[in-house]
Amino acid sequence: MKLTEDPHRRLNPLTNEWVLVSPHRATRPWQGEVSKTNTTPEPAYDPHCYLCPGNLRAGGVRNPPYSSTFVFPNDFAALKPTTDRDRVDVEGMNLIVAEGEPGICRVICFSPRHDLTLASMEPEEIDEVVHTWIGQYRELGGLAAINHIQIFENRGAMMGASNPHPHCQVWATASLPGEATKELAAQQSYFGKHHRCLLCDYLVVERGEKTRVIYENDGFTAVVPFWAVWPFEILVCSNRHFGSMSEFIEADSRSLADMLHVVTSTYDKVFDVPFPYSMGFHQSPTDSKPHPEWHFHAHFYPPLLRSATIRKFMVGFEMLGNAQRDITAETAADRLKALANEKKK
Ligand SMILES: [Zn+2]
Ligand SMILES: [Zn+2]
Ligand SMILES: [Zn+2]
Repeated sequence: MKLTEDPHRRLNPLTNEWVLVSPHRATRPWQGEVSKTNTTPEPAYDPHCYLCPGNLRAGGVRNPPYSSTFVFPNDFAALKPTTDRDRVDVEGMNLIVAEGEPGICRVICFSPRHDLTLASMEPEEIDEVVHTWIGQYRELGGLAAINHIQIFENRGAMMGASNPHPHCQVWATASLPGEATKELAAQQSYFGKHHRCLLCDYLVVERGEKTRVIYENDGFTAVVPFWAVWPFEILVCSNRHFGSMSEFIEADSRSLADMLHVVTSTYDKVFDVPFPYSMGFHQSPTDSKPHPEWHFHAHFYPPLLRSATIRKFMVGFEMLGNAQRDITAETAADRLKALANEKKK
């Protein structure tokens, strides 16, 4: 079996899920959707944007004239802190089951500037965003009712981002969400078996092979993971073993800012358009238990496939069977590696 030619499936050891890889199909002609790209530049301030400084939000709250990052409660929060954690189990059969889920949803603006992105912000400005994330993880994670902190950014209309103003969300929940639950189980099982960390060991292999590593700095390494599902998916891992941002030393924050800047600006170069993606951090659960198995990392899931307008769909076999991709992780990594290591502008 040749990984460059033959259909095969690859295991994601973080979730124990498989992805089907079909390298021979990568040149198949495309006759599907061609979506339109919106390349109109954004203004530095938009009087109609609910995230810009001084503007009115839905619900009638006015934003302060903030000058750096700005955190506020989500006006359309998916979760409420006052919800009871009670359980419904119809007939006690474990078939029709529901649980109350308390939580807190906040929005974090990266900058007062409406027209910036992580790719166009200076690393010093992103450093302030990282410090804001650290503060949020500590504050929300310190609450007794909160056991998981999900920080994530949806970038671009293709990912459902309703506003181009640079921002992300924090959802702090009582329960561990599905992805975190799978990753916790896999990391605990590996740690239990080998007395070592799954991602620390994975990084050693990737850094030895070099094939899929696209960029590294003092604190972090970015790879197209062997098991990547999305065409240009990236996994960013800390070089040192720790579970969350609350364990950052000062240099980590600067390294992460540099990493985010490099990854997002590399993405923008792939098809020469602002690259849409969902990204987020997977950090130790905040359930007051020790988590020696958990390794801090970030996932970038971008939908674009072969051009600025051709996206990957997760349909058919992927909905009913498992994820599938045509271009291999190695081919995608070659392309990203070349762009990431171009001389910085
Ligand atoms: Zn704005
Ligand atoms: Zn580790
Ligand atoms: Zn993860």
